[in-house]
Amino acid sequence: MTKLNGNNPLDRDYFKYKHRDRPKKEEKQITPCCGQDIDYKGMNVNNEYDWKLIEEYIEEKLREYASTESITPKSCKKCGRFLGYSSILRRDKKYFR
Ligand SMILES: [Zn+2]
Repeated sequence: MTKLNGNNPLDRDYFKYKHRDRPKKEEKQITPCCGQDIDYKGMNVNNEYDWKLIEEYIEEKLREYASTESITPKSCKKCGRFLGYSSILRRDKKYFR
């Protein structure tokens, strides 16, 4: 049985492994293709619903910021995990604030 100790930080792992054994460090589960935490359920560009959200986000940002030329949704080429946005700004000086 685990000793109860009020002075320890309780993180996500604490709750995740409360009722099961912690995997050893080297067994830490990450996707082999893009090195993402396998337990992290992020968006995936192959998922129709997620893709719609990504598109909507980009459309909104393009409307909001005239200085943005385009926004690329970065994702893993292998599994499609969404990794972030990268935007290209217009060179035209008049768009800068
Ligand atoms: Zn991947």
